[in-house]
Amino acid sequence: MTGSLDSSLFTQVRDHREVAAPDLNPSLFFGSGRHNGANKNSTEEPTEKAHEEKKTPARDARKCPMRVSGGQRFLFFVAVEKHRRRAFDMLSGSRKAGDMKALVKSRNQVGLWLEDVPEPQIGINDVKVRVLLTGICGTDLHIYDWDEWARGTIPVPLVIGHEFVGEIVEVGSNVNDFHPGELVSGEGHVVCGRCRNCLAGRRHLCANTQGVGVNRAGAFAEYIVLPMTNIWKHSPRVPIEVAAIFDPFGNAVHTALSFPVLGEDVLITGAGPIGIMAAAVVRHAGARYVVITDINPHRLQLAQQLGVNVAIDPKKKSLKEVQKDLGMHEGFDVGLEMSGNASAFREMLANMSHGGKVAMLGIPAGEMAIDWRQVIFNMLTIKGIYGREMYETWYKMTVMLESGLDISPVITHRFPYAEFQKGFDAMRSGSAGKVLLDWRQ
Ligand code: NAD
Ligand code: ZN
Repeated sequence: MTGSLDSSLFTQVRDHREVAAPDLNPSLFFGSGRHNGANKNSTEEPTEKAHEEKKTPARDARKCPMRVSGGQRFLFFVAVEKHRRRAFDMLSGSRKAGDMKALVKSRNQVGLWLEDVPEPQIGINDVKVRVLLTGICGTDLHIYDWDEWARGTIPVPLVIGHEFVGEIVEVGSNVNDFHPGELVSGEGHVVCGRCRNCLAGRRHLCANTQGVGVNRAGAFAEYIVLPMTNIWKHSPRVPIEVAAIFDPFGNAVHTALSFPVLGEDVLITGAGPIGIMAAAVVRHAGARYVVITDINPHRLQLAQQLGVNVAIDPKKKSLKEVQKDLGMHEGFDVGLEMSGNASAFREMLANMSHGGKVAMLGIPAGEMAIDWRQVIFNMLTIKGIYGREMYETWYKMTVMLESGLDISPVITHRFPYAEFQKGFDAMRSGSAGKVLLDWRQ
């Protein structure tokens, strides 16, 4: 919605901020592709008008000091402050036309707050989506908990969340390939389109990537606006709940298909939702044995349901014993590290075959020491994995689902969005797989 006075005030605040006052965080509520960095992405398909609009992208504004006089600067600051106060007044008051419900990190403290915020506005290269289902990710828990990473990363206030499926309600004037009514998800990394990797088509390696629900407004809201280059249209054969978790499913697929697994023995450390989905993927892709480890019995049980050969607690049974039970002699061919846990990673390295390949998705809490002699003498390959490949991973996800892969059992909990606290509690309980929030009313 663009008509209300208050929304336009927000737009002014945002516009001012991007020209010269990058520290005024309220703009991050809105996350319109047009105003919050997404045009950087849209530069892939520039038009003259788009080019005009992009003369002062947010990133440049952050780097450039204001080129105005002290008086101008003061007047400008007063104006922005006035608008900002009005914005917050509105947020604390009752809902107004043009508002939507959103889960907001609106305070510098533990928690998340369900608030009324203005609907995001659409730019010429953007797509506006009515959010239907969202998935809660570990990242959202970090933001809720306001840990060191979150405090150093998240601009407050910010609508958070990045796993979603929704229906297109509006497209920008420059958008031809998407239409209202289509069911879509969004790639959670908005890339610049101009760096070396973007230009070479390796967009998942963009040097200037922005995270949806991390650096720019997210999907835990009734509406989200993203550049058209971030939109993935779903096959009608993909169940809507599975479509809601394409983001973490993509992490699983990206990691699982990093190395060939046909006929190979695969070890996965960490049976969180991503580890479990990866197990289902390597099974689908033709692995011989799929062994998964976790220290949480609920998750080991869930992994069993998705068809692993062995799911074990490494504290109760060693991987050497498992290998023996399976008749394996030389170790695992492929390792997928999905726990972020140092001892799990060390155990993996000690159980790899010579020449084995390890893909690392799990994010350790800090530095992690390993015995490098195992890597060197056994000629192991270790590859870090981030995000999803745009959009080869999305394509693979879709066709694997269309050809019989079923990851739906990994979704264990569903709550209406207003009961988000129950969703976060379920995540924390350790007994959940994926937890969905339903934004359909
Ligand atoms: P999760 O936290 O739900 O799962 C991790 C699992 O590892 C848990 O079930 C935990 O019990 C288990 N674990 C802990 N110690 C273990 C040990 N010693 N041995 C075996 N298992 C152990 O996380 P998730 O959502 O499934 O994501 C998996 C990992 O991937 C996390 O570390 C997450 O931060 C990371 N991640 C990375 C990216 C990326 O782009 N690189 C993206 C998403 C998630
Ligand atoms: Zn880039």
